[in-house]
Amino acid sequence: MFESVTKLLESCPCGRKHSLLTDECVVSDDAAVQMKEYIAQRGFQNPAIICDENTRIFADALTDITAAVLTVDGHAHATEVYSAQAIDFVKASGADVLIAVGSGSVHDITRYAAFDVKVPFISYPTAASVDGFVSGVAAMTWYGQKLTFESAPPIAVFAVPEVFCTAPTRLTASGVGDVIGKYTSLFDWVVGEILTGEYRCPGICGLEYEAIDAVRDAIRNRSPETEREYTIKVMEALLLSGLAMQLTGNSRPASGSEHHMSHLWEMCCINEDSDALHGEKVGVGLLYVLREYHRYLNTMDADAIAAIDLAKVFDRSHIEKAYGSLTDGILKENLPKGKSSLADIKVTAETVPAILEAAKTLPTAEEAEELLKAAGAPVSNKEINLPYDEAFIEKTLTYAPYVRNRLTLLKVIQASKM
Ligand SMILES: [Zn+2]
Ligand SMILES: [Zn+2]
Repeated sequence: MFESVTKLLESCPCGRKHSLLTDECVVSDDAAVQMKEYIAQRGFQNPAIICDENTRIFADALTDITAAVLTVDGHAHATEVYSAQAIDFVKASGADVLIAVGSGSVHDITRYAAFDVKVPFISYPTAASVDGFVSGVAAMTWYGQKLTFESAPPIAVFAVPEVFCTAPTRLTASGVGDVIGKYTSLFDWVVGEILTGEYRCPGICGLEYEAIDAVRDAIRNRSPETEREYTIKVMEALLLSGLAMQLTGNSRPASGSEHHMSHLWEMCCINEDSDALHGEKVGVGLLYVLREYHRYLNTMDADAIAAIDLAKVFDRSHIEKAYGSLTDGILKENLPKGKSSLADIKVTAETVPAILEAAKTLPTAEEAEELLKAAGAPVSNKEINLPYDEAFIEKTLTYAPYVRNRLTLLKVIQASKM
């Protein structure tokens, strides 16, 4: 386990007692051997693997652990269809532990099935592509709507550089997008704390900054000779970020308005489906959000925030313009027990100075763009097959905050404009 995580488990500046359900997190050349030992030590008798067509080769290398393998479609997303297939497989195989051999979607499918059937699962990531490996929530597309379900995190993760460093560089670049996106996730968390008194843990934020900084430095030192080291840093950062979500109990430290942009595009209600990867969309979303934040921060108006009119924000006809048939689900997500996160906002004389102070942690859009480019990640909608005209970007910025009830500065900006 990472040293900084162990420290946080012992004592945390926020005063809460954090805990993890993942008890091993190994990034090492002999991680597959360690996984076999772990399974034996824990007394599991009947492990089974879930992988996809692209990662089947790595599952086949684990035959000394199990021959029970479900191989899903190479393009499988974490939907109700593939989850049902996985649940049937687990029940039929009588597995007492699952091993997710793959990238993000394979993990979400496995996580969902494991939770449903009530067996634990182990993560064996094959690409440094996304931070969802060790998280306790499953990011699913359920009957067309992007939802996160409370679910089971893996009991352990074993990442073998020889495996994940062979992944296409596009996948690692996507992982970089997911990590760099934490700049606005973490800032949005501070905004939530300032405006609504939301709980925030500085220790967990510290973990995330440790992850971002390590990846930023690795990108700056990137060369053919350092490629393996760089990819390992990205994997470690993604695992740290997943652990940070687990320590928090939700995705708050790792998902803010940049993720809401990405989720809106994934819901395909204002655009056609794009074949872009999660982290690619997050990275591009981050750049649009950073531009919007820096522009807004120059002229932030406390009175406009105090005057937010919730009736206008949640006017059904306004939401329907983007979400159409998904509007009921969106309203339900935004008004749990009839109450929006915006309803808790309290503006004082300290609000604007505090937000401006917190904004010093934000890079400029140019700085973030430079990092993404150096990682080979896309930096505009044009590169990820999404509309890139100004009207579409504006529509995304307007409607992305409705993806979640979570308070972000983007939600505040949009609501105070109405
Ligand atoms: Zn804490
Ligand atoms: Zn993400």
